[in-house]
This record gives sequence, structure tokens and C-alpha cells, in this order.
Amino acid sequence: MPELSLQVGSKTDQGVRANNEDSFVVDLRQRLFVVADGMGGQERGEIASSMAVEIIPRLVHARLATHDSPERALLKAVQEANAAIVEAGRSQPEGRRMGTTVVVALHHGGQVYISNLGDSRAYLIRGQNVEQLTRDHSVAQALVDTGALTKEEARFSPYQHVLHKFLGCHDLNGAAQVHAYTPQSGDRLLLATDGMTNHITEDDLRQGPKQFPDPQDWISHLVKKALDHGSRDNVTGVVIVFDQVN
Ligand code: CA
Repeated sequence: MPELSLQVGSKTDQGVRANNEDSFVVDLRQRLFVVADGMGGQERGEIASSMAVEIIPRLVHARLATHDSPERALLKAVQEANAAIVEAGRSQPEGRRMGTTVVVALHHGGQVYISNLGDSRAYLIRGQNVEQLTRDHSVAQALVDTGALTKEEARFSPYQHVLHKFLGCHDLNGAAQVHAYTPQSGDRLLLATDGMTNHITEDDLRQGPKQFPDPQDWISHLVKKALDHGSRDNVTGVVIVFDQVN
């Protein structure tokens, strides 16, 4: 299979918030991308999300160097980041939680490996097809899974952003998983926080590649669109374009 080249666009905007609790990393050396949305208010969210984007690339690198499989490297990195954030949260005042969502993509050996906790998402845009690759760990999504809510009702549920799994939670209980797919030339992979995903539609994702061939132009447009559409949250996205090497 021919190797694919990657082109990346990335942007974060704190929007109307007083601080930015989102973090991201674009690690082109090992083709690893992480987006994290910190929780806990004030500096706690910032600390948690910046820990996620620092720890995960470092641990994935160390594990791949010792010939762990990409799945295992990613899973272990997420689990160890979780333990580190739980530990850091212990110094916080009682009842104040500290945590972060995370969505990670690793391009390795002709496959893309995805893992997530919380409600930051990965979308694959392939031609006219838009597929959400991740499942939110929100109470609303859990209610959809049991049939108590429809997908449409979940969008407006007060439980949409109540997360039951995230980095910094005491019992991950198997929630951290890794899924793989084979990328194709022309694919676009979007990693984004809820500040973006709540305010853009699948149609926006379908139309974007035609209007914005350059990934940096496109992600800048998506961030602006989310803010124009009333996002009062931090807005962050990373888009990766896969292309055939000529
Ligand atoms: Ca957010």
C-alpha cells in the first residue's frame, strides 16, 4: 500500500471565556494528534488538558520504541495519563474534581488508531460521507443507548455534557478503547472539542473540503463558524488531510 502524506490544520480559540481549558498537540514526527478539553474550572481544567497533551505523546513514543503494538501503546498512554491526572487531582480541595476529555489519533503502519474519553470527538470525512468515529461518554449518550432518549432529544438534554468517563476519573472501567481504520487518499480526519461540535453540522463537514482545500483555512473557518453560531465555550479543532504521495 502506498504511504500517505499528511497535511494538518489546527486552531484553538478561547472565545468569550476568561481562560482556555482546551489543549491540543500536533506531533508530526510520530504522526500523533491529541485534543483535550479540561474540566474543573479555572486553572484546574487547563492543568488537566495540558497534562494530557504532554503525557500521551511521550508515553506513546516510549512504548512504540520498545515495540509495543500501536493499540497497546495508545491504550497504555491513555490509562497512564488518567492515573497521573487522578494523582494531580488529589491535591485539590475536597469535592473539586479535575479532569479532561481526550481524543487521540495515531497514524502508524498504514492504519489510523483512535481513542477517546469524554465528549471530544473524531469525525472521518470521506467524499460525501461523514462518520463520527467516537462515542461520547456522556450521560445523555448512555440514555440514548438504553433507548430512554432519542438522538435528537439528547442534543438538548441537560445531561449532554455530564460526563461519566474522562481522564482523571477514578475508575475507567474499560471505557478506554482503541479503534483502527485504514485511511484513504482524500480522507479528512477532524478532532474537536464540544465547543466546536455543538455548533457545526455534518453538512458543514461535508461541504468544507470543496470550499477549503487548505486544512489550515478550513479549521480556521470551522472555529469562526462555531463562534459565529453562538459557541460560548473554548473552541478547538485539528484536521488531518491524507493524500497519496506522488
Ligand atoms: Ca468544552
